Amino acid sequence: MRILVTGGGGFIGSHLCERLLKMGHEVICVDNFFTGSKKNIIHLLDNPYFEVIRHDITFPLYVEIDQIFHLACPASPIYYQKDPVQTLKTAVHGSINILGLAKRLRIKVLLASTSEIYGNPQIHPQKENYWGHVNPIGPRSCYDEGKRCSETLFMDYHRQYNLKVKIVRIFNTYGPRMQINDGRVISNFIVQALKNRDITVYGDGSQTRSFCYIDDLIEGLLKMMNTEDGFTGPVNLGNPKEITILELAKKIIQLTSSKSNIVFNSLPQDDPKRRCPDITLARNLLFWEPRISLDEGLAKTIAYFKTLLKEEEKDYQIPLFFT
Ligand code: NAD
Ligand code: UDP
Ligand code: UDP
Repeated sequence: MRILVTGGGGFIGSHLCERLLKMGHEVICVDNFFTGSKKNIIHLLDNPYFEVIRHDITFPLYVEIDQIFHLACPASPIYYQKDPVQTLKTAVHGSINILGLAKRLRIKVLLASTSEIYGNPQIHPQKENYWGHVNPIGPRSCYDEGKRCSETLFMDYHRQYNLKVKIVRIFNTYGPRMQINDGRVISNFIVQALKNRDITVYGDGSQTRSFCYIDDLIEGLLKMMNTEDGFTGPVNLGNPKEITILELAKKIIQLTSSKSNIVFNSLPQDDPKRRCPDITLARNLLFWEPRISLDEGLAKTIAYFKTLLKEEEKDYQIPLFFT
């Protein structure tokens, strides 16, 4: 098949492109490199079955393909809040264009939605039938409400045009190719620990997250795409092992044998207090569950950042932004 991956230059998208190519598919990666990096896909550029189109999906896109994984959207709080209007345009106009494309070609399209649609949840763990607790006017709303609207658009195109859609709600995912300055907790803590700098815990660190290793997530995305046509989801994809941010900081210090101290900074507004997926649906319908433990996944991610920092020392640097 010829498969379109929007956001293919990003963290998750680049792993997906690589995996689809390995499976024997042709891959078209569409990305405007707002938060992604050419570095993530540079090793794929020699592959004749891989194409890159620099394009902002808030504008129409005409390509001929057989299937779409729609991932394009800034995902880290510091980046999606940097240009909130563009984040919303990407979630809304971008999704409309991708749905219009899928509708013209009558092809299947999968949306990478997020656990953020549950907001600051009042129910634990979060099940797919929970409608969430979201501030519609706060600094995170461009992302949360944007993705909620993407989900609505996907379901409306499904109901109105009988389009084959799939929605996955991805919980915090980590691994190699996260940007060094991405601002998300795992990359921040690992880089700080490796440089023996202070580890910046926001708030008192009692908030929780559940971290899924990238390879497990990719497996889940592929399984969801291959479910029967009538099944739209949404389905939670994440690791149900919950950990506090303070525990995470201590674990990373220990795994890196770092001399870093933990410092406590202010908690960002609307930062969700607890987050943990209920993955019963994914287990039962996709026969999927994460296999890689946090310690194992962190070890691989730490090894990646160690190499990256060594390269940085050697002054080998490609700019992170290509806008
Ligand atoms: P990322 O920022 O690394 O990747 C997003 C990619 O989309 C980047 O390459 C960026 O340049 C591209 N992009 C952004 N706006 C675009 C536009 N208008 N047109 C074209 N390309 C555009 O983030 P990621 O972690 O790989 O996330 C990928 C997807 O998964 C996102 O939709 C995100 O919301 C979702 N997700 C990720 C996580 C996570 O923990 N990583 C959790 C939940 C959901
Ligand atoms: N679109 C696109 N590529 C296509 C087909 C459509 O980018 O191959 C865009 C098109 O610009 C439109 C949007 O998708 O604005 C929604 O398409 P739809 O068919 O739902 O709406 P309409 O074209 O009727 O406004
Ligand atoms: N966080 C932190 N220190 C950092 C970066 C993040 O304590 O340097 C916290 C953040 O406040 C949140 C959690 O870690 O409670 C996860 O943050 P991230 O940005 O990775 O993801 P999200 O908030 O979108 O789940």
